Amino acid sequence: MYLVEVYVTNASLNVNYPFTYYADKQILKFVRVKVSFHNKKTGAIVSNCIYSSKNYEELCDEKGYKLLPILEVLDDEPIISQELFDLAFWLSKTTISPLISCLNCMLPKVLKTKDLDSNIKMIRRFHKLEGNFDLTSKQKEVYDKLFDGIESSIARKMSVSIINSLIKKGAIEEYYEEAEYQEDKSDITSFKELTTEQKSVYDAVISTDKMVSLLFGVTGSGKTEVYLHLAKYYLSLGKEVLILVPEISLTPQMISRVKERFSDVIFYHSELSDQERYEQYKRVKQNKVKIVVGTRSSIFLPFTNLGLIIIDEEHDSSYKQDNIPAYHVKNVAFKRAMSFKAKVLLASATPSLDSYSHGLRNDYQLLKLENRINLKLPHVEVIDLSKQKKNSSYIISDQLKLELSNCLSKHKQAIILLNRRGYSPIVKCGNCGTTLTCIDCDIPLSYHKDENILKCHQCSKTYKIPKYCPNCHEDSLVFYGFGTKRVEEELKKLFPDANIERMDRDNVSKKGSHKLILDRFGNHEIDILIGTQMIAKGLDYPDVTLVGILNADAGLMHQDYNSAKLTFDLLMQASGRSGRADVEGKVLIQAFNVDHYAIKAVLKQDYEYFYNIEMNYRNKTLYPPYSHLLELLLVDTNAERLNKSLNILTKLTSDLSYKQYRPFELPKIKKNFRYRLLLIDKDLLSMLKDLTEVINKYLSYKNLSNIKVDIDPLFLE
Ligand code: ADP
Ligand code: ZN
Repeated sequence: MYLVEVYVTNASLNVNYPFTYYADKQILKFVRVKVSFHNKKTGAIVSNCIYSSKNYEELCDEKGYKLLPILEVLDDEPIISQELFDLAFWLSKTTISPLISCLNCMLPKVLKTKDLDSNIKMIRRFHKLEGNFDLTSKQKEVYDKLFDGIESSIARKMSVSIINSLIKKGAIEEYYEEAEYQEDKSDITSFKELTTEQKSVYDAVISTDKMVSLLFGVTGSGKTEVYLHLAKYYLSLGKEVLILVPEISLTPQMISRVKERFSDVIFYHSELSDQERYEQYKRVKQNKVKIVVGTRSSIFLPFTNLGLIIIDEEHDSSYKQDNIPAYHVKNVAFKRAMSFKAKVLLASATPSLDSYSHGLRNDYQLLKLENRINLKLPHVEVIDLSKQKKNSSYIISDQLKLELSNCLSKHKQAIILLNRRGYSPIVKCGNCGTTLTCIDCDIPLSYHKDENILKCHQCSKTYKIPKYCPNCHEDSLVFYGFGTKRVEEELKKLFPDANIERMDRDNVSKKGSHKLILDRFGNHEIDILIGTQMIAKGLDYPDVTLVGILNADAGLMHQDYNSAKLTFDLLMQASGRSGRADVEGKVLIQAFNVDHYAIKAVLKQDYEYFYNIEMNYRNKTLYPPYSHLLELLLVDTNAERLNKSLNILTKLTSDLSYKQYRPFELPKIKKNFRYRLLLIDKDLLSMLKDLTEVINKYLSYKNLSNIKVDIDPLFLE
């Protein structure tokens, strides 16, 4: 008899230990099984299987309960390694999440224990058998054309009846095999020779003893080329290389650059189907590929000999997951690098405050690329909208209009950034001042002119435009502010002969549609590209010589501790799109709050200026990186239950010695009322330990609101 320890899906948040079942046969560690849990069949992962010489009754007596059997073993081989299991264990401790959620987060959907019904796509093939078969001449002719492993569908195209006879006569035999992903290949081109500055960064990375290097390189300084050379070096040592990027669909250029240099590379991201992701996962597991470019979740791929992890745009907020387990990819990367004795290269033109301070303290090797490849940083100007002439447009200022027409007359291209989609973001009654909001979310509705509707940007619910104000019933609704669609309309009026296009979430929902627009921009079929933050990152088009940033200070209005940094990053990234080739680029920034240090720093193109002021503020307020944040979020559609839950939770945390803010009510989202509790302290480990206890106590109450934990959230909105 065997005792089998398994981690069960659907166990509640505070259940973070294995349950014991029994089996007649030995079961491998780390395979998935089906078990009965609270009278329901559910998936689980085996963490241990121990032989016992006792019989069933003796074992039940010893345990004190009736042991249940493992119902079914689902895998022939372990689906994860010991290294990944240990990683999940660590993840569960550092994010206060159940181990099974961490394991599931690491696996592609078809291998998750909660999706047991996922089908893996199989391909039918033929084995060609050797021997003397009694074949007619026609059968012989087809038989000779077949090769071992040919797909059944292809073979059958030759002649269904002959194939059937060949099967009958034992000359061929059908079998099933899992489908395998085929990446379309590019022609391989040679590596660019590194500049002296790039070469010294390259040399420093491969010779340092430090596990982590931070490359602070201005936009257009050729960071990607350094990655490619480093990747080549680590591959030559027989190691695996992972390049993490914020969002693949936005960086088709990164894909093509990597593809042009390496033949066996895979791309792992959310645009792949579940089946494709599984196939890619398997290729890494079977050691068929050595280099992966992917988004956040690729950090969990089953590497066996990882040598280098590069995190491009390391400051980017997409590297933080907000759902359980709320991890930051950097911490996972460090953990895996320690297991493999691998290197981590963080890189950015606007490093996170945390990374840069580690760099200055020499915890990380700090490396710089201070010059653009073309040696010309863009020229930045700020336009103070509060000082504009009366009749000048507040959407496109006179200066921007002039620069745009200069740019167009020279047959160059422009990018206009406005981080707000739709036509206008606020609809208000001119009589009583009421703002129209979504009934399920406490946020203003945006006007979308194409569809002539009002839309909630939280839940996507749409509304017909009312004729009268719902409050005072006057016919006086006014549209305030502007979004990308409005800018598009305005620019088309100003420049009727130019090709103007927009890229934001409203028009690139389809798979591959980003690439279509960017390809056309690259081919010069578009003169002015308008977009949200989607167009701020990574684009490298030599003819872009003008970038205009509208409402540049909008992000600074948020009360969030991180909003100055987020605004600074966005503006610096966007500015970095201008003037990347021979002609010097221009950047025009339109704002009201022009004296804000984030705007001033962009004007100077000076990261360190921003860093010093921002760190001073963080130090005074004890926000990260001077501390860690632990956020507890209570969410409920029932306001009464939420209040009751909040009372219980605040009692449980009241004895803790950490700095705490008063519970904060957040806007309602999708019918859910929300409360946030925020704890701040330098000692993350002790906070994790105490809060794990608090949460366990909270969960031992019946019928309270859902609770969510987030460690070091990047947004507090
Ligand atoms: P970053 O990622 O730092 O913004 P990129 O890697 O996109 O910069 O490089 C900017 C431009 O310079 C690209 O067009 C790239 O092809 C070119 N480039 C980079 N390194 C070299 C080099 N060593 N020689 C010639 N061109 C280079
Ligand atoms: Zn809504």
